[in-house]
Amino acid sequence: MIGDDTPAIFRDPLPEAVDVAVIGAGIAGTATAWFLARAGVSVLLCEKGRVAGEQSSRNWGWVRQQGRDEAELPIMMEANRLWRGLAEQTGEPGLAFTPSGCVHVASDRQKLAKFEAWCETAGRHQLDTRMLTRNEVGELLPGVAGDWIGGMATPSDGRSEPGLAVPALARAAHRSGVAIVEYCAVRTLDLEGGRLAGIVTERGRVRCGSAVLAGGAWSGHFADNAGFGLPQLLVRATVMRTGPAAHVVRPNVSLGGLALRRRDDGGYTVATGLVDHFIGPPSFRHAWRFRRLLKQSARELRLLPAAPRDYPGAWGRARRWTGDQESPFERVRVLDPAPSPAAVRRIRARLPQQVPALADAGLAGAWAGMIDVTPDAVPVLGASDAIPGLWIATGFSGHGFGIGPAVGRITADLVRGRPPGHDLGRFRPGRFFDGSAIVPGPY
Ligand SMILES: Cc1cc2nc3c(=O)[nH]c(=O)nc-3n(C[C@H](O)[C@H](O)[C@H](O)COP(=O)(O)OP(=O)(O)OC[C@H]3O[C@@H](n4cnc5c(N)ncnc54)[C@H](O)[C@@H]3O)c2cc1C
Repeated sequence: MIGDDTPAIFRDPLPEAVDVAVIGAGIAGTATAWFLARAGVSVLLCEKGRVAGEQSSRNWGWVRQQGRDEAELPIMMEANRLWRGLAEQTGEPGLAFTPSGCVHVASDRQKLAKFEAWCETAGRHQLDTRMLTRNEVGELLPGVAGDWIGGMATPSDGRSEPGLAVPALARAAHRSGVAIVEYCAVRTLDLEGGRLAGIVTERGRVRCGSAVLAGGAWSGHFADNAGFGLPQLLVRATVMRTGPAAHVVRPNVSLGGLALRRRDDGGYTVATGLVDHFIGPPSFRHAWRFRRLLKQSARELRLLPAAPRDYPGAWGRARRWTGDQESPFERVRVLDPAPSPAAVRRIRARLPQQVPALADAGLAGAWAGMIDVTPDAVPVLGASDAIPGLWIATGFSGHGFGIGPAVGRITADLVRGRPPGHDLGRFRPGRFFDGSAIVPGPY
């Protein structure tokens, strides 16, 4: 994880004008900037805090095709191919991809039936997912205990190290010519005749023909202030890591209520499905759009009365500001929520029970991240309907790390007026406002 307790690494001077300004240096913004620069486009990447300080360094590190929404799957399959070449292409070992595979197990018929249905989806896309018998689960996961009746596995899935990958990609983007400025919030957009003419940062204006909003958990606030809708709610997800341990569990594994993956430092990243939503004004504003998703995820969702001060979605925070005023983005440089005590207790209890082989590994640390979720749990990707010249790449709903490289490739092509190579209809920014049914994907 990357905090704001160390000096900025990327401190380029703010240019007066660029072709494209990218707002937010998580994986979506950084990958977009990298692809644009390699195509000869001049790019500014503005980050209010630290490159990858928020979700992109706090996630589990799964690069997962398995279980995806069918519209996302071809994009995720492209991302899987891209991940395999990134370290070599950039000369950055931090972008290493380990093809560890991914396994989900089931202890009841209902879950197994869901896996079977998803295997048919995988088959339509020639993905290597297959069902596992009870014995095969046991053979694949010797260090794991449980009353499984079967599972599914995708051997071509894998993992990467979140704390290393995006800073490494930022270094590669920088070498390709991207101007990167940390501690430089973009306050708002500069419009001329309703069209994008530039961005307004805390350090001044920058003229640009296009901008990409890739602000993760802050994108909804940015959009509200700029005058267009982007329904987004946040959930806090807590993660722990073990100390170094024997390599007993090889694939990324979801055991239902406990998930883990091997880390390059010899430990395991461990999490449980429990997430928290801090109630605030956006909860009420967007509740009706999120009702189906809420129903789908109610068992593992806890509602907490109020977000800490200055968090996106907190009570009493400014909803409107101008380019000359301090923005909420400057008040929280790195969103670093405290881990949930309930999730920590659950992980401590479940790890030794469900993975006896790791009972002695010891839990060495805990952290949390705020996940940005859309009403249908799939991203918002495409041209803004409201502001010509603005592109949106956000709302990854807890699964944007793995798909990030392909999102960058696609967004860069969209901005350059090239075909994206995939059907992006399901991800269009206007879908929440045109009367379309909101159908949640698997969250
Ligand atoms: C605990 C956890 C586990 C997860 N596990 C996985 C996983 O295993 N696999 C997976 O694929 N995904 C996973 N995810 C989801 C994944 O991490 C995110 O979907 C992805 O990182 C989102 O990337 P992003 O670039 O959209 O946003 P972020 O990484 O959040 O980056 C957005 C950046 O924009 C900056 N910003 C915002 N507003 C402004 C502004 N106005 N001006 C300048 N900068 C701004 C922010 O400071 C931030 O750095 C997980 C997430 C969490 C929290």
